[in-house]
Amino acid sequence: MRVAVFSTKPYDCRHMDAANAQHGHELVYLKPLLGQDTATLAAGFSAICLFVNDVADARTLETLAANGTKLIALRCAGFNNVDLQKAAELGISIVRVPAYSPYAVAEFAVGLLLTLNRKIHKAYNRVREGNFTLDGLAGFDLHGRTVGVIGTGKIGLIFAEIMRGFGCRILGYDMYPQTKFEDLGGQYVQLPELFKTADVISLHCPLTPETRHLISEEAIAQIKPGVILINTSRGALVDTEAVIEGLKSRQIGALGMDVYEQEANLFFEDLSCEIIQDDVFERLLMFPNVIVTGHQAFFTEDALINIAETTLLNITNAEKILNGEVPVEV
Ligand code: NAD
Repeated sequence: MRVAVFSTKPYDCRHMDAANAQHGHELVYLKPLLGQDTATLAAGFSAICLFVNDVADARTLETLAANGTKLIALRCAGFNNVDLQKAAELGISIVRVPAYSPYAVAEFAVGLLLTLNRKIHKAYNRVREGNFTLDGLAGFDLHGRTVGVIGTGKIGLIFAEIMRGFGCRILGYDMYPQTKFEDLGGQYVQLPELFKTADVISLHCPLTPETRHLISEEAIAQIKPGVILINTSRGALVDTEAVIEGLKSRQIGALGMDVYEQEANLFFEDLSCEIIQDDVFERLLMFPNVIVTGHQAFFTEDALINIAETTLLNITNAEKILNGEVPVEV
């Protein structure tokens, strides 16, 4: 298939080309993000390939459909950036990579937690400047503490398992509880109980209309004071302005976020010589107890290989279905 691959970086091209050796699709790499203004770039391509900050909303999908797009291959797990209903109406099929390396994301969430709790980011700078004092660097033992996992799917389960290894008590909340979580020693509770009890909260549910601003002003009022909040899932799970107030009042003890509500304007680009206009984001960076990373939790070589291989296989399989070579499985 002719595939327009949006928002590509050199590492995408390298891994996609390697995986494509077995498939033979015609891949055309485009740097811009997909959106209403860039949808015409896909004219004449029967398939397009997207990442997390490409936006396939209703108007964009209409342009794509009018120009012959039949397939959207997401090279990510989340699909909150695609209007699925509109795509179905227009006859555009969607494929994605449901699991490429849940370990990569879960391990990164643990990394953020350890860094924040033990202030490793501050210690790193201090020692480089010849300051070997320990004032202000005290954390707490994770052993025996309570960790709340919101969303106990593939990533949440692995995160829970790792934290169990640290000797933590694990609470979980999920709309669809699964026995695997309880088998590894987790206990399901309702959200208010998790908020009230957890010393650490890690978000691993998808972004949906129900989970948008799950961490709201009301939720922050219920949480255990001093909680460490980790978000490696999607930025809009958290009401950023409410979280800033929570940090100022010390209700939130520390925040680790790999994702940000308005990240599409910032992440994956080198803006080091620019004046960043997002004051909310800049305020977050001012806190000593906040670590922001630019959506890199997935970013391991293992994950990049899996993403590329699964995406290319998805395109090949979808092409067979679109050509009527194999029946659609319902
Ligand atoms: P998954 O589908 O395996 O698990 C998601 C879990 O959330 C499921 O158990 C589901 O039942 C639960 N859930 C759904 N709606 C819920 C709700 N309203 N309240 C509570 N739980 C709910 O997904 P996964 O592979 O574990 O990925 C989780 C999320 O991580 C993805 O949706 C994606 O947004 C994010 N992610 C981030 C990165 C990154 O690099 N930062 C990489 C991959 C995935």
